Amino acid sequence: MQWPLLMSHHLKVLIVVFSMMVDGGNGPVCEWSGRWNHIKKFLERSGPFTHPDFEPSKESLQFMLETCRILLIGAGGLGCELLKDLALSGFHNIHVVDMDTIDVSNLNRQFLFRPNDVGRPKADVAADFINSRVPGCRVVPHFKKIQDLDETFYRQFHIIVCGLDSVVARRWLNGMLLSLLVYEDGVLDQGSVIPLIDGGTEGFKGNARVILPGMTACIDCTLELYPPQVNFPMCTIASMPRLPEHCIEYVRILLWPNETPFGDGVALDGDDPNHIQWVYQRSLERAAEFNITGVTYRLTQGVVKRIIPAVASTNAVIAAACATEVFKLASSAYIPLNNYMVFNDVDGLYTYTFEAERKENCSACSQIPLDLHFAPSSKLQEVLHFLTESSSLQMKSPALTATVEGKNKTLYLQSVASIEQRTRPNLSKTLKELGLSDGQELAVADVTTPQTMLFRLCFTS
Ligand SMILES: [Zn+2]
Repeated sequence: MQWPLLMSHHLKVLIVVFSMMVDGGNGPVCEWSGRWNHIKKFLERSGPFTHPDFEPSKESLQFMLETCRILLIGAGGLGCELLKDLALSGFHNIHVVDMDTIDVSNLNRQFLFRPNDVGRPKADVAADFINSRVPGCRVVPHFKKIQDLDETFYRQFHIIVCGLDSVVARRWLNGMLLSLLVYEDGVLDQGSVIPLIDGGTEGFKGNARVILPGMTACIDCTLELYPPQVNFPMCTIASMPRLPEHCIEYVRILLWPNETPFGDGVALDGDDPNHIQWVYQRSLERAAEFNITGVTYRLTQGVVKRIIPAVASTNAVIAAACATEVFKLASSAYIPLNNYMVFNDVDGLYTYTFEAERKENCSACSQIPLDLHFAPSSKLQEVLHFLTESSSLQMKSPALTATVEGKNKTLYLQSVASIEQRTRPNLSKTLKELGLSDGQELAVADVTTPQTMLFRLCFTS
């Protein structure tokens, strides 16, 4: 494998530049004797597991403490763990981005927050906590959406760590890092690569992965690994329920709209105890009919609100794995994870690491425009359906434009109500009727990426 060596070269250049800068300086403040002994054991001596090119030195620690800039995305369950792990590992220049405010239900595991903090931005409180608790650490909070920050912002970091619960946000960030890559004559300039360490958890399952954008598998290369939300087949729900969840889904999907217990057009509100109570009672009746046990009020609310319980220990393990990878990349002392680790402690404990492969025609990182095969008589609706339903694209609300007769034409756009209304009739028109031709370029914008994606329309007969 070439890339760890190259990366280590890239960072070593930075270390050298930095050492020149601090020579003759005052040295870091707020240090005490032995403070970094645990880290120095890894950085100032070699061992059987160190990187073959690693040379023990005192400069690695200085680089981590003073120069290395880390961006942490998310200050929730994974984010709190990550921020603590990174700060205590010697990373003192950390920016954290999170758009959420603290809810009382976060307090059991998001341990940087206290009851008094409820309602305040997670990023601000997490940064304050670490800054006051870890001397010398400078965490800069951004109470923002990742989409509100631009290229100049993302470009300033050496490594980005992600503790998000949203696939769309991950894909957007992945697209942003890919857009920062510089190619010269088709060859990637490795100095433009910002490694992305991505952690994710769901209940007792989690994963940690190392992504070198443009070099190793990106988020979209492995999109098929994020299955769409689990829905039970309707026939099971309607006629052959086996699980308590099937009974609750039956009441939610079939009984609620038919019986309209709280009036016509009143939607089921997972936060309204009267609504949940009604669903719970009817689910119990349904379960009794089929001799199914296990329907509880809590499960009812969980199914209706699609709650996946958050498990603090899973977050801790995945965050630790991610922070270790940040440490390995920043110090070049150890070979990074190659490149996808899964973790599961539902029953016993299981981990497995494999090398996710780049997808040759990945819509995000391959730089090859994708072909869309449709008959001229296909309707625009079918194209839209393909973009959202295809497991390798999974777009959310694609906006389509094309150049027709020399003019830029919006074929369909969902996010602005007035344009949606104006372009909706196009959905039932055929591609031919819309004036599109074979080989035509279609530009598609979507929330899953900061860049407009180009597709080539290939007519089938
Ligand atoms: Zn890719």
